[in-house]
Amino acid sequence: MPRFSRLRTDKPTNECTIDQVKSTHLQEYESKRDFKVSPEPKGDDAKGDGRIFVVQEHHARRLHYDLRLEKDGVLKSWAVPKGLPMNPGEKRLAIEVEDHPLDYGNFEGTIPSGQYGAGTVKIWDRGTYEFKVWNDDMIEFMPKGETLEGRYILARFKKAGKKQWLLFKAKS
Ligand code: MN
Repeated sequence: MPRFSRLRTDKPTNECTIDQVKSTHLQEYESKRDFKVSPEPKGDDAKGDGRIFVVQEHHARRLHYDLRLEKDGVLKSWAVPKGLPMNPGEKRLAIEVEDHPLDYGNFEGTIPSGQYGAGTVKIWDRGTYEFKVWNDDMIEFMPKGETLEGRYILARFKKAGKKQWLLFKAKS
């Protein structure tokens, strides 16, 4: 959610860069991590040139799969405890988590114990995606990965909570 923090009267408009806008998107990501300890990307020089998606298998306190879709210069992210549905009709809970930097799409490694998300991360699938719908309540997207393909729907699951979504594969 965009938020006004302060007006910079000391800067002309043309000195405002996309990086400054981006870094506010990643504030939550940065505030949760200590980059002196964690090998995760700090993401200050990420450039987006398309629509990448990645699913990372994250052996944290509990195994889950992180689905990330590139949008507006960051990776929009959801933790999917049971993994991605592979068949039409299967529904999975997906919990919206903080935006991640684009570099995160290449990240594999071990987050040291004591750190946020401690455990190992490996790429389960990645590729590009297109979308038909993207609004506050619904995202309809078509991933092209090694494993994932077809049409997927993420629908906000308001009854379950603010950050809860349902993820399912649609009939193509
Ligand atoms: Mn995770």
